[in-house]
Amino acid sequence: MIIADPRLIYADPRDLDTLRNALKDNDPEGKLCPILMDQIYIQKKAIELLPEIISEHTRGKKILMVSDMTPYFRGKDSLKEQIYYLLSQNFDVLWLTLDNHDHVLHAVDEESTRIQEVIRTHQADCVLGIGGGTITDLCKDASHAVDDSIPLIIVQTALSVNAFSDGISIMLKNGVKCSLPTRYPSVLVIDLNVIEQAPMERNLAGYGDVLATWTAPVDWYLSHKLGMNNTYNDPSCDILRTQNSELLEQSARLAAKDQETFELLAKVLTLSGLAMGIAGESSPSSGTEHIITHLLDMAADKQHRDVAFHGAQVSIGTIFTAIAWDILLNEFDPTSVDLEKCFPTEKKMKPMVYESFEWIKKETADECWKGYQKKLENWKSNKENFKKFLRNWDIIKTEIQNVVVSPQHLCEQMRAAGAPTHYSQMTPSIDEKTARWALRNCHLYRNRFTLSDLLFYLGWWNDDFIERLIQRASELDAGL
Ligand SMILES: [Zn+2]
Repeated sequence: MIIADPRLIYADPRDLDTLRNALKDNDPEGKLCPILMDQIYIQKKAIELLPEIISEHTRGKKILMVSDMTPYFRGKDSLKEQIYYLLSQNFDVLWLTLDNHDHVLHAVDEESTRIQEVIRTHQADCVLGIGGGTITDLCKDASHAVDDSIPLIIVQTALSVNAFSDGISIMLKNGVKCSLPTRYPSVLVIDLNVIEQAPMERNLAGYGDVLATWTAPVDWYLSHKLGMNNTYNDPSCDILRTQNSELLEQSARLAAKDQETFELLAKVLTLSGLAMGIAGESSPSSGTEHIITHLLDMAADKQHRDVAFHGAQVSIGTIFTAIAWDILLNEFDPTSVDLEKCFPTEKKMKPMVYESFEWIKKETADECWKGYQKKLENWKSNKENFKKFLRNWDIIKTEIQNVVVSPQHLCEQMRAAGAPTHYSQMTPSIDEKTARWALRNCHLYRNRFTLSDLLFYLGWWNDDFIERLIQRASELDAGL
């Protein structure tokens, strides 16, 4: 294996120039997308820099501040009020609060449209989003819809997800979670004093979201090896793996609220967003573990239930996916594959997709089938690549073994961090029936090829296999 560039392995998101140079030197095919961000701050007292940051990036005085109802503190006082008063001294600040009446706010078009209207009526010179992933996704989507040249500054209030440093918004459309290309924030501000006061379960959710780094890039690599994507690139993985590994080993220090570990988590989360940004899609940080999670969210939406923290759900999906990888790596024998059985017809798959999703909404099933149909077509056109994959399995297996995590170590470290390892420990908890449904049907829901697709086409991903995953997880005190 080629040794990666140390500037990538130890990338610091606060030094974007060095990172950009390293990416340029490691991108002979010119495949990578540019990082369209001006600056990332991860430091103590970063909030105090806001007036200066805004003046630097904004010509006018009109600021639209967008937040949700979640309270955040810096010292004893409300963070949002502190920022409002701090900025009001120099700017004309309009504060828009998105209130979802005691329910979790979703990134839906309706909320984005509200922000767009206020950007227009206030003639905002700058949008300042304060909050978590949903506020960030909405502000990216809304300011992109109005005018990309309006500076977007995001104050991240917890290390909850990796949605802060990429040009994608995860929006809920027709009950389906879609990743849409929108825009990057111009500036990301992470104040470590705010982070240390954020509820621990939110910061642990971010730790959970980056655990996907143990499975998503591997799914992405697998898909690449099978000819199912042409976006795979090593730098998107290199900037994450080593520091993510250090983070996993420091899990116990996270539970002790160690400052340096918070800082490392902030860096890794931000790099995880950048990895998606430079790939131009979410694959480096989103594989099987995320599609399971998306299905859980879709079910919650249909049942009018709130969703548990995204990253916490993702980490349980990661445990199941790591187990699935473990089973494949230990048991797969390419000589036993009956090639003809690995390519199902549309006639077989279409009813399966509708049966899985029509209970949510007809439109949801339509949307899922639209994506799945493309994937199936693509899979059929890659038969030769699949044959090559089977011939080369020993080499590919060794490569993958070098980068996946053992499910046991993953669960031990999660417990050391104080992170939940069961769906039943989520707030609100996820029932077994919904979890089984999400695990069983995750591969049917979109165009992206992941490990779950390979296992399905091999005839493995069925009810018995799901029970086996659940059983293995349960032996590790994890899973349902
Ligand atoms: Zn995520």
